[in-house]
Amino acid sequence: MPLRSFHKHPLRCLFAVSLLAVIGCSAVPGAITSTERTIIVLYTNDEHGWMEGVTPGQGAANLYDLWITQEGYYPEGPFLILSGGDNWMGPAVSTSVEGESMVQVMNAMHYAASAVGNHEFDFGLDVMQERIAEADFPYLSANTFRRDTKQVPTDLGIEPFTVVDVQGLRIGIIGLTTTSTPRTTNPTNVESLEFGDYEQALRATVPVVRSAGVDLLFVIAHVCMEPIRQLAALLDDLEIQMMGAGHCNELAAEQINDTVILGGGSHLTSYARASFQYDLNNRHLSGVDFSVHQNQASALDPDIAAIVQYWQQQAEAAMSVVIGFSAIAVDRRDPSLQQTFIDSWLLADATADVAISNGGGIRSALPAGPVTAGSVFGMLPFDNTIIATSLSGATLKQVLAAGTSPQVAGLLPTTNNWVEKKTGAVLEDKKLYRVLVNRFMYAGGDNYEGIAAADPEGFDTGISYRQPFVDWIKAQNSTASSPLQLQ
Ligand SMILES: [Zn+2]
Repeated sequence: MPLRSFHKHPLRCLFAVSLLAVIGCSAVPGAITSTERTIIVLYTNDEHGWMEGVTPGQGAANLYDLWITQEGYYPEGPFLILSGGDNWMGPAVSTSVEGESMVQVMNAMHYAASAVGNHEFDFGLDVMQERIAEADFPYLSANTFRRDTKQVPTDLGIEPFTVVDVQGLRIGIIGLTTTSTPRTTNPTNVESLEFGDYEQALRATVPVVRSAGVDLLFVIAHVCMEPIRQLAALLDDLEIQMMGAGHCNELAAEQINDTVILGGGSHLTSYARASFQYDLNNRHLSGVDFSVHQNQASALDPDIAAIVQYWQQQAEAAMSVVIGFSAIAVDRRDPSLQQTFIDSWLLADATADVAISNGGGIRSALPAGPVTAGSVFGMLPFDNTIIATSLSGATLKQVLAAGTSPQVAGLLPTTNNWVEKKTGAVLEDKKLYRVLVNRFMYAGGDNYEGIAAADPEGFDTGISYRQPFVDWIKAQNSTASSPLQLQ
């Protein structure tokens, strides 16, 4: 890689231009000629709090170092770092502080904007508002509206679009949020909101952005690639130069008509890149280029690494925080413990009818004495999340009969059927029920193959299967004189 050193700072290219012209120095980022500007987009989505790296070497500090060494990134340069949303919900280092750590990491990585993903709503609107206020970059969604006013909820900090200046070019960026959000975050959190049609939102917003005077127009969307391709084809007349996708964790870079489409993959393990050469004389694009890249084989950026390490220590400290008190040790197979655990899921999602856990799901006892977040982690140690499914009464009966010792919330058994605990109504074969299961079961573990077979569209809420139980314990405010009471 003989040119690597020249990528560190594009100005060097100006001095070396006569020497290197024949071997492609003009492609060095930020090379400014009098008539042309190059803008480089670095795009990620569905980061899901994975600042530490899903595997070693794939964390935020590696990615940022890669951008500096391979892409020639520098903060004042011709770069635009963008995210397609779902930044926060994920491992303990992010989720235990409701995404605050991830906002700090993304600030330090100089993100310029993020789409609002469905999981940005996971911690509730108040927390979302706090996170957005902490971010040095805007969270964008032009199709998220208050149900009553039909306006984008700017009171929460969400903006429909932003206009940024990069190397003298004005770039309009519009955000979109998946219309599946009421089903793919806790529905209670978004009761007051609605998520509108993508095309309508863009047709309404693009003229407003254009009237602000922009040279380039980008969309960052927490919307899967396939609908984005269709949108790009439908909206050719709007002359959008780039649309970034999200939500489906896809890694891709392609072009539909004149729109570059990017998907950055997920969990910061990869990114997509697009560069736009803009001719200042006739004020249009003279070239585009796009590609995808893995986050690998890079060193750690020391500043980002220090931030990640700080939050890892915070997460470890959070594990030793006492959240409750149990008078006695309770065996992991104790029916009341198992029932309390699965019932907590329905408390966390009031729109769900039923929750099911596999029998051996709890791995160790609830300890006697102080209960810490770490105790619950020991009881429920897996990287397992809650999946929301839609199952008919008939399927539900089959699933419960086939699965290995299911723990059930929301239903009570009768001689040869089940009744809804809330209403006493018998399970109806043809009626659809919102049923929460864990990812292990959805993948067919412990004889639960029937769930995914009946509902292949089951949605991973991203919420840890232990979180509702932690929340339940906290809500009991138990002490030595008033210990936890299980169901
Ligand atoms: Zn999503």
